[in-house]
Amino acid sequence: MTLKKYKSKRNFTKTPEPSDETSAADQNQPIFVVQKHFASHLHFDFRIETGKVLKSWAIPKGLEEDIYAKKLAIETEDHPIEYANFEGEIPKGQYGAGKVEIWDKGIFKNISSKDGKEISLNQAIKNGHINLDLKGTKLQGEYTLIFYQDKNGKKQWLFIKKKR
Ligand code: MN
Repeated sequence: MTLKKYKSKRNFTKTPEPSDETSAADQNQPIFVVQKHFASHLHFDFRIETGKVLKSWAIPKGLEEDIYAKKLAIETEDHPIEYANFEGEIPKGQYGAGKVEIWDKGIFKNISSKDGKEISLNQAIKNGHINLDLKGTKLQGEYTLIFYQDKNGKKQWLFIKKKR
């Protein structure tokens, strides 16, 4: 996971988004953030700290309603950790132009497992089956991100809240 793709899409002399890889904070537990992004299509960017980057997905709809419904989560490029603090306006003509608001933020615990054994977050991402315990303000409890193949054979992710 690197920031190459992230950097290649942006002109940091024109967008206020962060360019560097410095860590936002020293915390014992990894962070997650959800940013509401008023781009050409409104969506929610769900990002989790994995090593030195934020692994990222765009959730087009349903995060504010329908909390138990399965939601499509489109994998997007890794973002710098510092991005978890970003709110502001990406200028017109720049990649992702539009307002970005922090919608939720918190810490999480990787609770992924395979065959009854705990596995690392990176392994869970590779396997396409991630279980997270989120402690945010709005998102709380167990969530799963899981691979599936859409009808065109394309690999997509689903974002699912576990029912209590
Ligand atoms: Mn976005």
